[in-house]
Amino acid sequence: MSELNDLYQEVILDHSKNPRNLRKPESFSRTADGYNPLCGDRLTVYLAIKDGVIEDAAFEGSGCAISTASASMMTQTLRGKTVEEGEALFEKFHALLTGSDEAPPELGKLVIFSGVRNFPVRVKCATLAWHTVKAALESRPEMVTTE
Ligand code: ZN
Repeated sequence: MSELNDLYQEVILDHSKNPRNLRKPESFSRTADGYNPLCGDRLTVYLAIKDGVIEDAAFEGSGCAISTASASMMTQTLRGKTVEEGEALFEKFHALLTGSDEAPPELGKLVIFSGVRNFPVRVKCATLAWHTVKAALESRPEMVTTE
């Protein structure tokens, strides 16, 4: 586990300091806002979907290192995936963080977030971006909160 912890720290730090896809795209077809009141994380997710494929995924917002790193890695992972694949990844990521012992290979690097499983407040930080993107995929207009 300590190896995973080291990797976890390193990757989270890298993505929180240099978030990927932290921008508002010039064109996007779906968007949703997310808020985690327990930590104060806020973000807006943007998706450009064409013919059922997520051609672009980006986000704006501010939050703790874990929520930022999670959003950064999520947008990287989702680009080029179909909407169905994106929804399946949400389910797998959510299951991984809320108790499943399995680490599905589809999650790739995202499995490092299993390190937050024992910290319920941090689970909300790590899943905020995913809850928000799910709302965007389903075109739900209301604000997403982790509560
Ligand atoms: Zn947070």
